[in-house]
Formats: sequence, C-alpha cells, structure tokens
Amino acid sequence: MKVLIVEDEVKLATALARGLVLTGYTADMVHDGQSALERIVAHHTEYDIVILDLMLPKMDGAEVCLALRERGIIIPILVLTAKQTVDNKVSLLTIGADDYLVKPFAFAELVARLRAILRRPREVSSEVLQIGSIMIDTGTLVVTAGDTVLELTRKEYAVLECLLRHAGEVVSREELLAKLWDHNFDSFSNVLDVHVKNIRKKLSGANVEGVLQTVRGVGYRICV
Ligand code: CA
Repeated sequence: MKVLIVEDEVKLATALARGLVLTGYTADMVHDGQSALERIVAHHTEYDIVILDLMLPKMDGAEVCLALRERGIIIPILVLTAKQTVDNKVSLLTIGADDYLVKPFAFAELVARLRAILRRPREVSSEVLQIGSIMIDTGTLVVTAGDTVLELTRKEYAVLECLLRHAGEVVSREELLAKLWDHNFDSFSNVLDVHVKNIRKKLSGANVEGVLQTVRGVGYRICV
C-alpha cells in the first residue's frame, strides 16, 4: 500500500512517514498544496491513498481535494484538520474527502482510519487470480501454489499480484518499482531482484518452477 502524505509541518510529515513504513506501507510526502495537486494528477495510479492536511501553503487542502474530484480522480483521501466543527464536517463531505481526523491524533487512530478506508473498495473488488497452479485471493491476501500456502512478505505479495494481473506480459522494472516503492526509489537498486529471487524460491518449494521469468534488461513475466 502506497501513501502520499501532504503536510507542511515537516516534522509531523516525517514522523508519519516513518511510522507508516514501520507499519508496512510505502510513504512519500510533499509539503504544499500546489505540489500535492501536481504530484497526484501525474501519479495518482501509483498511490492507494492520500493523507491531506487542510491548512497548507500555496493551495489549501480543500482546494486540492476539490480540484482532484473535478478532474475525476477518485483516489481515497483522508483529511487532517486542526479543529472539529459541524461546518467543517459538512464541507469535508462536499469537497469529496473519504474521512477526516482531528489533530492531534494518536498514530494508531490514523492507521485504523487508513485501513477502514482502504478496506471499502477491497471488499467490493476482492477477487481470485489464478495462473496455472498459482492462486491469489486479493481479499484475504492468501497465495497458494498447488496445495501449498506460500508465506510471502507484503512486498513479495505485491510483486506477485502485479505480475499475475499482467500474466503473459512483461512488466517492466520501472513499473514495479513505481507501483511498489517510494517515488524516489533508486531503480538500479537490486531490492526488486532480491524479492523476485525469494518468490521463486518459495514457488520452487511448492514444486512450481520456471513460471517467473526474467526478461533481461526489461523486467519480469509470469508465464505457464
Ligand atoms: Ca498545516
């Protein structure tokens, strides 16, 4: 799960990003409304959710939210707001926010809200992807190969799900890195290769060999 944090208090943004990474999310941040709008318009398919502070320099959070919805961008948005008033609540719904959190908040509360929002579409879109003997349930995140349940890490799961969704096609390294890692992730890093190697090892443990192919200089492909 990849989160964009939009918060001008750099200390708070950094603390949130660090906490989210420790919780298993990938997190990027921007510190003003204008940059937030530009980033989201250009890269909204890479993010699963936006945490959006309302009081921001250059363009406030409400304007960002409205501008996104006007462009038909339906990415989930959790708004952070300094004070809670009835007015605020009503206007947050009209600008198209999915939920809001009043500052100061406990980090656990933020994670609970993120999970609640991210669960909404998943319940609807939960599906089973199957290629050969490999099966993924995108609702429960359970992966099986034949009769064996594979114990994948979160990143390994994400890589495998992405490849299965494009079964038979080559998925480029850049595409995988952009979807699964931080915006500025060094694409020459071998982290992706390590994850792929681990997935192969685990598939191999379930007697599934040769389905996760490396296409040299391009990316990876699942084929049966
Ligand atoms: Ca602020």
